[in-house]
Amino acid sequence: MNSDDFEAFAVRAARWGVDYRRTLRDRPVRPAVSPGDLIGRLPAAAPDSAEPMETIVGDFERLIVPGMTHWQHPRFLAYFPANAAPMAVVAEIYASAIAAQCMLWQTSPAATDLERVVVGWLRDALGLPAGFDGVLQDSASTATLAAVLTMREKALGFAGNREGLVGQPRLRVYASDQTHTSIDKAIWISGIGQDNLVKIPGTGPNRGMDPAALDAAIRADLEAGHRPAGVIACVGATGVGSTDDIAAVVAVAKKHALFVHVDAAWAGSAMICPEFRAWWAGIDGADSIVMNPHKWLGAPFECSAHFVREPADLVRTLAIRPEYLKTYGKSDVVNYSEWSVPLGRRFRALKLWFLLRAYGLDGLRRMIHDHVAWAEALAKTIAATPDFEIVTPPMLSLFTFRYSPAGAADLDDLNMRLVNAVNDDGRTYVTQTKVDGRIAIRIQVGSFDATRADIEDSWTAIKDVAARL
Ligand SMILES: *Cc1c(COP(=O)(O)O)cnc(C)c1O
Repeated sequence: MNSDDFEAFAVRAARWGVDYRRTLRDRPVRPAVSPGDLIGRLPAAAPDSAEPMETIVGDFERLIVPGMTHWQHPRFLAYFPANAAPMAVVAEIYASAIAAQCMLWQTSPAATDLERVVVGWLRDALGLPAGFDGVLQDSASTATLAAVLTMREKALGFAGNREGLVGQPRLRVYASDQTHTSIDKAIWISGIGQDNLVKIPGTGPNRGMDPAALDAAIRADLEAGHRPAGVIACVGATGVGSTDDIAAVVAVAKKHALFVHVDAAWAGSAMICPEFRAWWAGIDGADSIVMNPHKWLGAPFECSAHFVREPADLVRTLAIRPEYLKTYGKSDVVNYSEWSVPLGRRFRALKLWFLLRAYGLDGLRRMIHDHVAWAEALAKTIAATPDFEIVTPPMLSLFTFRYSPAGAADLDDLNMRLVNAVNDDGRTYVTQTKVDGRIAIRIQVGSFDATRADIEDSWTAIKDVAARL
């Protein structure tokens, strides 16, 4: 590649990105396309001869962009955010240009050191004690898998990796029935098995697990001769933000010497605001915590912060050192691939460093604070609107509501039709969940560039669409 061409197209891509962000409000949040629409418009095979970049870039704009769901759209209220703050996107451009493989200290000296520093910054910003160390994993799913593998190995005296699970005591792990499917998956992959993930019903206003029920389940398993390995608690589960009482769960777990992993993938970002830390009171007692700066905070995907009390246990579980991965002559070397399941890793620390510096903790706290305030205000508005009802109140910036006009026969069907019609309309984008077996519409306020007006406009769109149903 001629470096003048590289310059021309790199500059063009950066300009395109800036313009894209500027004009996002004018685009539908979700495209009106069907599965396979794009496939029919693409050639069946890769070209044998090189094509002009001009054509490729033109096809990107013409074919790809109109078929994308715009996650950075200020009126995106679906799922959870996957924010990519503009200045952190700039960091990603640099990281992509260097394209380092950050598996070992020696393959990425400054990236490894920077990761140690920014993980410490983030830990302090979240109000976690200095006793926690951490790593940037690719996803919360991976962090949870690493934590489950660690609890498995600790429970087996580190014999599982060597001997396998056949002939070992039956391991048991506990979580509320509200937790994310990444926990089930980690249990599958770790060989513990779905039948050994004990789901404790979420109860009370926060739908957290009842500590007495947790204790009873652990005792019953001990009596049956099983081996409890750990507890996975959740702060801000995906459906309606269900949250366990971390202090109470930790107290029960510690009584039985069990490892505690806390999944705060989404809500963890809000813990940079001291006023929201009551949501995870007792977190100091956890052994492992995951929160995703790639959700609410604004670090582009993938950037999942995994904090651990005893890195040695994690490394003993996941480190594997063939000759070609050894680093000689350096003491105190951190090789982050030994803290994670995949060997290869991107330079993730750079975007977090740019993010924290370019916006400052105060700027990020203000964003989170605004989102929570706007969600609470919108929930109030909806509660006061005829034919609508709040189903679950705001947990931080997430709440659910239902369209329930008098005389409507099948509210589940009506609300699903409303979700689909709102999303086809394109002015905003919402998703549904089930609350106590019935459909509710989820709203989370969390887009990095959202304004109060975007949230009000989104509500106007939902009301308009409902009136036309
Ligand atoms: C998003 C989410 C996850 C999964 O996160 P990934 O980084 O996509 O693996 C897990 N738990 C909760 C509570 C989440 O919100």
